[in-house]
Amino acid sequence: MYWLSDFLHRRKKAPDYAEKTLAAYRLGMKAGGSIRGVRIETTPQSCAAARALPAGKVYHPDEAPRLPLPECPLGEDCPCVYRPVMTYG
Ligand SMILES: [Zn+2]
Repeated sequence: MYWLSDFLHRRKKAPDYAEKTLAAYRLGMKAGGSIRGVRIETTPQSCAAARALPAGKVYHPDEAPRLPLPECPLGEDCPCVYRPVMTYG
């Protein structure tokens, strides 16, 4: 999925980005796959609110902060994205 990275960061977020993405990861976990959680990937362009999140923290999809963060001044242009955390590596 790494080839998607630039595209994901530049893309405007749909209003249901967080719900859809987290739901997909939740399903992946239930299916007994190798996803063990989700992390939030920030970029140098990300807002202060996102960069203040604990680095490397792994969330359950039910508990992950919703992106874009409510404090984010960039809104749908926020470059922060969710990333699946795998059970290996
Ligand atoms: Zn942001």
